[in-house]
Parts: sequence; structure tokens; C-alpha cells
Amino acid sequence: ATPTSIMVGTGRAAENGILFKGGEHLERTHQLDAIVLDKTGTITKGKPEVTDFSGDEEALQLLASGEKGSEHPLAGAIVAYATEKAIDFVEVDEFDAIPGHGIEVKISGKHVLVGNRKLMDDHHIDIGANEEKLVEFETNGKTAMLIAIDGEYRGIVAVADTIKETAPQAIKELQEQGLEVIMLTGDNERTAQAIAKQVGIDHVIAQVLPEEKADKVKEIQALDKKVAMVGDGVNDAPALVTADIGIAIGTGTEVAIEAADLTILGGELLLIPKAIKISHATIKNIR
Ligand code: ADP
Ligand code: MG
Repeated sequence: ATPTSIMVGTGRAAENGILFKGGEHLERTHQLDAIVLDKTGTITKGKPEVTDFSGDEEALQLLASGEKGSEHPLAGAIVAYATEKAIDFVEVDEFDAIPGHGIEVKISGKHVLVGNRKLMDDHHIDIGANEEKLVEFETNGKTAMLIAIDGEYRGIVAVADTIKETAPQAIKELQEQGLEVIMLTGDNERTAQAIAKQVGIDHVIAQVLPEEKADKVKEIQALDKKVAMVGDGVNDAPALVTADIGIAIGTGTEVAIEAADLTILGGELLLIPKAIKISHATIKNIR
């Protein structure tokens, strides 16, 4: 590989909004076998909105007050919804975020849990027939969260995030380039499958805890595959570093951009097959 042609390649990429941190990354992009994409904020817009809420006013008040302390995009959706409903927020006495599960808070002398099935199971909360509602939301690609107050089920809230318009086309191009395309998410299996179906991905790894994302990348590398990881969140940073090529979403967190080898401006997924195309054209000219 001549340094000049690599420079021309990275320059061409930059003109298109594909920012490589160095020429060696362009060379490695040429060798990729598989690409792993995070769901929220990478395949989806990452701006979830509440679509359904079932529960009383107290449940909504405690739920939203608790989520005010969370930085998770799901929490933002709930706070916005409660604000719209003119709910009075109350002060939280104790707040704990449980990564990949939800939150545990103490408010007005009450113990409040908000999160997924696993969180409820861990606290032995019986959700009874509400399991059916949960399954229905998930089948429709929504993320549903359960609320428990003082050990009792008190409600369910569903949130939907929309896929990026160009995601199906970008994924189709990657598959046509011969790459194995995989979706990786902390969200539950059913929601993940529903979103994957909308964008044409058939390989899904769901319910992955934030600290396990990098291990999933290693497992694919162990099959003798060169892997790219695409992500936007703080959660994704270790996996971005572990992957042969880490690709950050330009609209994502600073931490993800730091950890990656290249950034795609505006989070436009079509820039990924474009980057691969440029890498092939550059390397082929060299050989
Ligand atoms: P993702 O890969 O979608 O960003 P996370 O690992 O952050 O997923 O979270 C996985 C799951 O944990 C969420 O789908 C949700 O069910 C639950 N969860 C995480 N944070 C919160 C929160 N602040 N409130 C309620 N539930 C949460
Ligand atoms: Mg994300």
C-alpha cells in the first residue's frame, strides 16, 4: 500500500463525511467479514416516544420522577410524556441505575422499580396477566417497561423509536458487499427481532448487558472473522475499541467517537457501505 494512495482514499472518504482517524483503518476496512450494529441510536433514530401507558396517576408520578435522574434515552421519553400530562414531579431520596435492567429509587418513603422483566424477576414482582401486554408491545417493536411500587406491579409504559429512513438500504448494500450483518442490543429479544425485520437483518444478539458487548465482538472474531462495530453510546465504547474497525455515529456520544477508528457524519448509515467501497477501490488500485 502506498502512503499516497491511502491519503487519496481517506481524503475522498472525508469529502463524503467519512472521517478516518488514520490510513491504516482504511486498509483494515477493506478486509471486513462482518459488521455488528447497535440498535438504539444507530439503526433507530434514538429519540424514543411514549406510545402507551397503563397505570394510575401515582404510578406515573413516581415513574417519571424516578426517571428524571436517569440519562437513558428511555427515561427522556418518559419524562417528556409526564411533563406533557402536567404531572407534578416529586423529589427522589435515593437513585440507583441498574445497567441493562432499569432503575431502583426511593421516593416519598416508597420503593419504586422501573425496568424490564428481568428487573421484576430479580425482585420477585408478580406481573400476572400483564405479561400478555408486554409481549404485544414487544412484538410491535416497542420497548415496554414495568413499574412496581413497594413490591407490587403498578403499571406498564411502552416506548417506540423509529428506524432511520435509509437503514434498510444501507443494510442491503452491506449484505451485497458480502458482509455478515448483525444487530446487537440490550433490549429484549422480541423487540430486537421486530426492529431487525424492519431493516432486513436476520442475525440478532439481544439482551446483552452493556459490559458484555465487547465480548460478543470477541466471539465473532474467534471465528476468524474481521469485525466492524457501529455504535453511538457510552455503552458501545469498549466494543468499538475491541472490533477490528470501530465506527462511531457522528450524532452519538463523544465517548463513542473517541473510541472509534472512523466516524460517519450525521449518523447516515449509507456512509458505511460507501466507506467500504472507497476502501476496496483504494486497496485494489495499490495491488
Ligand atoms: P440499549 O442497547 O437499547 O441501549 P440498555 O442496555 O441501555 O439497552 O438497556 C436495556 C434495557 O434495560 C432497556 O431496554 C430497558 O428495558 C431497561 N432499562 C435500561 N435503562 C432503563 C431506565 N432508565 N428505565 C427503565 N428501563 C431501563
Ligand atoms: Mg445506542
